[in-house]
Amino acid sequence: MSTCRLIASLAVIVAAALSAATAAEPQKGLGYQDTPMLPGDKWHVHDGLRPQPRVVPPAPTDSPAAPPSDAIVLFDGKDLSKWQDSKGNPSGWKVENGYMEVPPAKTPGGGEIATKDSFGDAQLHIEWCAPNPPKGDSQGRSNSGIFFFGRYEIQVLDGYNNPTYADGAVASLYGQYPPLVNAGRKPGEWQTYDIVFIAPRFKDGKLESPAYVTMFHNGILVHNKTALIGSTGHKTLGKYTPHDAKGPIKLQDHGTPMRFRNIWIREVKGYDEQ
Ligand code: MG
Repeated sequence: MSTCRLIASLAVIVAAALSAATAAEPQKGLGYQDTPMLPGDKWHVHDGLRPQPRVVPPAPTDSPAAPPSDAIVLFDGKDLSKWQDSKGNPSGWKVENGYMEVPPAKTPGGGEIATKDSFGDAQLHIEWCAPNPPKGDSQGRSNSGIFFFGRYEIQVLDGYNNPTYADGAVASLYGQYPPLVNAGRKPGEWQTYDIVFIAPRFKDGKLESPAYVTMFHNGILVHNKTALIGSTGHKTLGKYTPHDAKGPIKLQDHGTPMRFRNIWIREVKGYDEQ
């Protein structure tokens, strides 16, 4: 082998080694390595090494999906009469132009909101929009969330060109499972979640079967009957605590701007008889 070819070969080997080393490094500021291990998995909670969900651009559309005939409309763009704040009082979230909006941080009347009614097994449709231009990055860019039973969070986040730890990505089951793919639209565009949530079953104070989530983000499958490890949390490992067969749905105020519209729910009946 000539000297030139030898040097070229060595350069390729060194470049490959450097590239492999880079791939194995957590992206700066993206996650944690000092958090609990997820059971049966090789990742820490919010592991910065966990691969980013593959990006799959959804079809362009901006049309709200009309509720089916048997749906319970939770928000039709006019008022928050089906919602309350954490103290049971009317929420101070702004409603205008057919959407509700998480208020700026520390606004009086801000804070999470929850449905007045409770739900068990359910199909939920919700549309959301992060502002354009975006502000902040990672978990700080238009972070909100949908909490079934007030404790199982499906992440809402502007995930467009916004790397973050994979189990906190847009449409993740927070702190547990990244979405199968990243189907996020650009900030300023309306996005849809269609979620089937099967509630956990408890018997004699013990877990009988876990909660399951099947979900489409902008029409693309992101969870396929995924079993939750337990309730979701930041830097903690979820666990189940027995609760009622029905609970409220909460929307998170994380102190960053987010809009919601066209929210409806269908109760799923007969799951246990299948
Ligand atoms: Mg969140």
